[in-house]
Amino acid sequence: NRIITSSIKQEDFEIENTLRPRNLSEYIGQDKIKEKLQIFINAAKLRNESLDHVLLYGPPGLGKTTLSNIIANEMGVNIRITSGPAIERPGDLAAILTNLGENDVLFIDEIHRLNRTVEEILYPAMEDYALDIIIGKGPSARSIRLDLSKFTLIGATTRAGLLTSPLRDRFGVICRLELYENGDLFKIVYRSAAILGIEIEEKAAYEIGKRARGTPRIANRLLKRVRDYAQVKGNGRITFELATKALDMLEVDHLGLDMVDRNILITIIEKFGGGPVGLDTLAASTGEERNTIEDVYEPFLLQLGFLQRTPKGRIVTKLAYEHMGIKDVNGAE
Ligand code: ADP
Repeated sequence: NRIITSSIKQEDFEIENTLRPRNLSEYIGQDKIKEKLQIFINAAKLRNESLDHVLLYGPPGLGKTTLSNIIANEMGVNIRITSGPAIERPGDLAAILTNLGENDVLFIDEIHRLNRTVEEILYPAMEDYALDIIIGKGPSARSIRLDLSKFTLIGATTRAGLLTSPLRDRFGVICRLELYENGDLFKIVYRSAAILGIEIEEKAAYEIGKRARGTPRIANRLLKRVRDYAQVKGNGRITFELATKALDMLEVDHLGLDMVDRNILITIIEKFGGGPVGLDTLAASTGEERNTIEDVYEPFLLQLGFLQRTPKGRIVTKLAYEHMGIKDVNGAE
């Protein structure tokens, strides 16, 4: 029941759709990606063609689903949303593909989790807008080709390296989403507060954004928790003082580190002399999943400069020792 987790929680569903920006101009930050997409979208529309297939990758909660909806909206087409694990058999994917309209968007979240047989259906679909279907068995089996409408596949994943290379190579546009800067997170919190009718001081919105570890989903979640606190302890208006108190109570420190981040750093420092330590060993000693460390915790700790990735494993830096208030006996860099 951790507040900082960037995977979707039940409570998020209620308001995530309300808070989702609908078009590129409302989408805050990620300027390079927006500029690139705007050009490709305009060009595709001018030519009356489908947009090239797009791969979006980056940590959870950064706005990949949101961006896919925006792309469909800007293209003026329908979007069909599914995920890698939800498509179990080739027939499931064939059914989805044959139902797409001209230039529609098919969004596949966690696309790295598609199974092999399903993935192979995607290759001719992406390349030639065709499905190869085998009819019959044994010597009398033959393959027939079924034409599909032109469509845009948008795949989302946490790391591009998780995709097989034949799949990755079939995306014409590849975008890496970065953790958001504090200024952008401030705008996101301020915008969400306005939509939800929450009164908030600018300084408080900035503080919430600053502690959201670069992730819009966490920023929105913190905003909701702070709103609760401000309603109970104050008159509902979120002041800087109330925001700080609420965030401290949630044990999110002034940089956005929570108990798990601190546990990861302390484990490396105390059990492994500051590192290097391999990811699997670290996962076993902290009780966190390897993937969660790699996709959620590590990107933020690396961005803060608290962790370094070396061929031998993860190393805690001097900055991290300072932040944790631990004296470094080994002299980390
Ligand atoms: P992902 O698919 O990468 O896990 P989502 O697209 O579901 O992330 O985004 C999570 C929430 O964060 C959305 O509900 C949306 O309100 C908010 N969000 C994400 N990116 C932005 C952005 N650039 N500007 C404003 N809000 C955003």
